[in-house]
Amino acid sequence: MNTPAPRPAMLSVHDALALLLAAVRPLTQSEIVATLAANGRVLAADQASTINVPSADNTQMDGYAVRAADCASGAARLTVSQRIPAGQVGAPLAAGCAARIFTGAMIPPGADAVVMQEQCEAHDDGSVTVRHAPQAGEWIRRAGEDIVEGATILPAGTRLRSQELGLAASVGLASLPVLRPLRVAVFFTGDELTMPGEAPGGVLAPGAIYNSNRFTLRALLENLGCQIADFGIVPDTLAATRATLRAAAADNDLIITSGGVSVGEEDHIKPAVEAEGRLAMWQIAVKPGKPLAFGEVDKAHGDKKQGDSAFFIGLPGNPVSSLITFMLFVRPFILRLQGQAAPAPARAFTMRADFAWPKADRRNEFLRARINDAGGLDLFPNQGSGVLTSTVWADGLIDNPPGQTIAAGDLVRFIPFSELLH
Ligand code: AMP
Ligand code: MG
Repeated sequence: MNTPAPRPAMLSVHDALALLLAAVRPLTQSEIVATLAANGRVLAADQASTINVPSADNTQMDGYAVRAADCASGAARLTVSQRIPAGQVGAPLAAGCAARIFTGAMIPPGADAVVMQEQCEAHDDGSVTVRHAPQAGEWIRRAGEDIVEGATILPAGTRLRSQELGLAASVGLASLPVLRPLRVAVFFTGDELTMPGEAPGGVLAPGAIYNSNRFTLRALLENLGCQIADFGIVPDTLAATRATLRAAAADNDLIITSGGVSVGEEDHIKPAVEAEGRLAMWQIAVKPGKPLAFGEVDKAHGDKKQGDSAFFIGLPGNPVSSLITFMLFVRPFILRLQGQAAPAPARAFTMRADFAWPKADRRNEFLRARINDAGGLDLFPNQGSGVLTSTVWADGLIDNPPGQTIAAGDLVRFIPFSELLH
């Protein structure tokens, strides 16, 4: 009886990612940048507040600042003794008096509540009837209720988004220490590749394809705030591949290539990286994707400013494989390299499949799917690893475990692209 040959063991997506992240050496060099120019950067040091926010008790409403005890009747007539716009400091409020006050203005000493103007009636003689009995503290934002002086507002390793920049500015931080940008070199292998706009006579030659991965990859890296060195299309020869690797390693932290990672005669990435550094070829139980090349390329003597080697990741050439491999593996690796502390894993949401997927695969599949009006998921009909239209049509990926079929109505794990792109 014939027993089938054992298949080579494949790494799970989880284990492959753990191996990658274990190898990371995060950036340490930092620089000071203006807070206005720090979008997308990663904080190099904890930031604390030197002030309370708000800095003083102030009003949340346009209305009258009062002593709550003066208004207990629900129809108190008070003398309007002052007017306090935002940015001005009022005088102490005497008993029986009210201060006309505007949103954001400091509560004057003596007042302990604000009554909104809709509940008050001003009279020509300079008095006001307050038709509401406020609780003490009503409509007052307390000093330090958002941030207490001395509190850490943003820890080192935080990626600065619009929210974090606003928070930093709200405590007066005009500049911030951030890690330097990650330098990433890219190049593209494949003699069939043609750049859009460069086909001879404007017609794609027989057998040629456009270099779409260059556009996808560069945009992915730009969205992550990387500084990109683009070495373009490299001829399918060992010598050209090695020379480009050496040049790319010199000034960069990471080299990413597309294509040429299979073991065909035209695939030179593997021997080239082995000659210039170290390489592990991983077979990952993922579809699309599977082969991922991970290693390091040594820097020549004299080029060792940023360490002895540049990391190397070789993505598959198939456009959808390349994109999904980037999202699943390269993105978290880059976030850690950039110094981001423990980046949160991409969140998956449990959603209903409104389709059937009757053929299980032994690999972990990432299916292009879209949220429909009924709150379920539709599947793109062609899940081929070269079908880029699926990635434009879809809202995200269904993370379907190995060996799993899907029946209509089943709950599946859906990862929106928004979780995978920045
Ligand atoms: P490879 O990984 O080099 O064997 O390529 C696998 C498939 O992806 C082939 O059909 C290639 O033509 C295609 N491919 C490789 N590189 C690119 C690229 N930069 N843009 C679009 N398709 C590519
Ligand atoms: Mg190729």
